[in-house]
Amino acid sequence: MSPPLSLATMSSHSSFYNIIPGALAEELQVYAVCLKRDRPLWIQHPHITDNITLLSVPSTEETDAIVETFNTIDDEVLIIPHGSFVRYLSKKDLEKIRHPIFGGTKILSYEAIRQKNSGLLKKAGLQTPKVFSSIDEIDRPVIIKLHGAEGGKGYFVAESKKEVKEKQTTEDSIDFIQEYISGVSIYAHYFSSPILERCELLGFDRRLESNVNAQHLTDFDEPSFTVVGNVPIVVRESLVPEYQRIGEAFVDHTGIVGPFCIETICTPELAIYAFEFSGRIVAGTTVWVPHGSTYANVLWGEEMYMGKRIAREIKLAMKKKETDKLFIDSPKLQEV
Ligand code: AMP
Repeated sequence: MSPPLSLATMSSHSSFYNIIPGALAEELQVYAVCLKRDRPLWIQHPHITDNITLLSVPSTEETDAIVETFNTIDDEVLIIPHGSFVRYLSKKDLEKIRHPIFGGTKILSYEAIRQKNSGLLKKAGLQTPKVFSSIDEIDRPVIIKLHGAEGGKGYFVAESKKEVKEKQTTEDSIDFIQEYISGVSIYAHYFSSPILERCELLGFDRRLESNVNAQHLTDFDEPSFTVVGNVPIVVRESLVPEYQRIGEAFVDHTGIVGPFCIETICTPELAIYAFEFSGRIVAGTTVWVPHGSTYANVLWGEEMYMGKRIAREIKLAMKKKETDKLFIDSPKLQEV
C-alpha cells in the first residue's frame, strides 16, 4: 500500500532555500521543523511560511524535542535529510522518529566516519587518494584532517612525514591522513531515482575555501580549507561522461536512493580522485535554485534543481503508487 505523502524537513540553509521552494513549486504539502534561532529569518518570507505548516523547536541540543515534534505530525510524511539534520540527530535519535526518511539512514552513518566514507568510494571502484593509517607510513604529500574538524576547518597539509611531525601541535588529534591531490575541487551532484531507475547527473559546484581560494596566497600563509561558500561549475566537456560513470558506479555499489554528492579533485592530467561523499542533498546544490543547472535543465526540458527534483520524485512515486520505493535503505551497501 502506498499512501499519499507530504514532505517534512527541518531548519537549515538547504531546507529553506532549496528543499522547501522545490516542494512548493511541485505543490506538495510541507511540514517544517524550525529552530527558534531561525524563526526571525523565516517569518520575513510569508509567501513561504503561509504555505507550509511551521513547527517550532527550541534548539539543536534538545534532540528529544526535535524527535517529538516530527512525531506529532499525523499525516503520512517523508522526511528529507540534509547536512544539519544528520549533524544534530544521532543514529539513535533517527530510530525514534516514526516517519520514513528519504533513502533510509544506512548511508548516512557511513558519511560521518572518514575511514568508512573513503573506504566505500574505493570499494565502488572509484579512484581515491591513498589513506595512511599512521604518520610513519607517510611517503608523499598529505592532508591531515583532525578529529571534530568540519567544513574544511582544522585541516593542514604537509609534504612529508617529517613536516607532519613538525606541524602537529599537542592539541591536534589526527583523525585521518589522506594523500594530498593537487588540482581543482569539483563537487558532483547526483540524484538516484528508484522510480525512473536511473542515476541523474544534475550539476556541479566547487566550494570557496578561505585562503586556498584567496586572491593571492602568499608564501607565509598557511593554507586554510575553511568553507565560506559555493559557486556553480560547468565542467570541461570530456569530463561529463566520466562523472556520469562515477555516479553510476556509486549507485551500483550501494543502491543509494535520492540525492548524493561525490567530492572530487581533478588533476592537471584530468584524473578524477573521489575523496569524500555525502549521501544526501548538499549545500552546493543551492547554487542552482531557482533556475536549475545546465545539466538538470537539459535532462528535464525545464528548470530543475535538487529541491524540486526531490519533490518531483515524490509526485512520480505517488502517481505510480510506489512511494514505498522512496524508503529503500541502500540495499547493496556492504560493510567496509
Ligand atoms: P572535506 O571537509 O573533506 O570535504 O574537505 C574540505 C576541502 O579540503 C576540500 O574541498 C578540498 O579543497 C580539500 N581536500 C580535502 N581532501 C583533500 C585531498 N585528499 N587532497 C586535496 N585537497 C583535499
